[in-house]
Amino acid sequence: MPTSPLHRVEPGTAVDVAAIDAADTSAAPGDKDETEEASAQLAERMAELQEVLWARREESVLVVLQGMDTSGKGGTIEHVMGAVNPAGLRVTSFKVPTEPELAHDYLWRIHANVPADGEIAVFDRSHYEDVLVVRVENLVPEDRWRRRYDHINAFEQLLVDEGTTIVKLFLHISKDEQKERLQDRLDEPDKHWKFRVEDLETRSRWGAYQDAFSEAITRTSTEHAPWHIIPADKKWYRNWAAATILVDVLKGLDLTYPKPEQDLSDVVIP
Ligand code: ADP
Repeated sequence: MPTSPLHRVEPGTAVDVAAIDAADTSAAPGDKDETEEASAQLAERMAELQEVLWARREESVLVVLQGMDTSGKGGTIEHVMGAVNPAGLRVTSFKVPTEPELAHDYLWRIHANVPADGEIAVFDRSHYEDVLVVRVENLVPEDRWRRRYDHINAFEQLLVDEGTTIVKLFLHISKDEQKERLQDRLDEPDKHWKFRVEDLETRSRWGAYQDAFSEAITRTSTEHAPWHIIPADKKWYRNWAAATILVDVLKGLDLTYPKPEQDLSDVVIP
């Protein structure tokens, strides 16, 4: 499986996200400016690699983004995917399930949005909500959500077996950093649209969410679909780390442009 070593959670490791420094930038290639420069180059590289993926239409990539509110899921998509041809990109934000979604199994809406051959699909939240918010808010009984780790591993194995490469990124921020970002949203009228009072309730259960993330990552970081825990307090570092991981994975696919179906060597444009 193509993968990246950066912040990768080795399968079988017991993870405690609360013990990981969210402000760590020690793997950065330089200071903030140098790292931003490196990120810009990675974004270009990503666009080139995606063009080959799109031209071939033989395999696909699924990027799963998870993290607490304000962790930067949207900003990561904007910065890391900004140079990619939108025709081959598909972003899905998973919200509170609708009535028809709730009337089906929890993977129903997820499976409907996985990438087609040639596409990169990005999930802004995902099936992992069904072992995160669902667990913390007690939306289904424990014995029911506990079985989901196995379902998720099997579901992801199915996707991988059928030609999808899965990249799972947990954007890890500290509680203090979240406070600052929420305060910014309150202070700046142009950011009010991002502020939801309910997010404060989620914040009040910070510890329970950290536990839920820790167990989810521990149980679902597999050889076929490993997690990466990205320290995300510094946006410039987060963008660089996410871009590095994605470029590593795309390069690892070793893709080449498809051969033309016809011999083009004698073609003359009249
Ligand atoms: P975001 O915070 O991602 O920008 P919203 O503010 O609309 O977007 O939040 C989406 C909400 O949907 C989150 O509170 C999340 O916990 C919730 N949600 C997502 N998936 C599920 C699910 N399967 N069950 C319950 N709630 C979910």
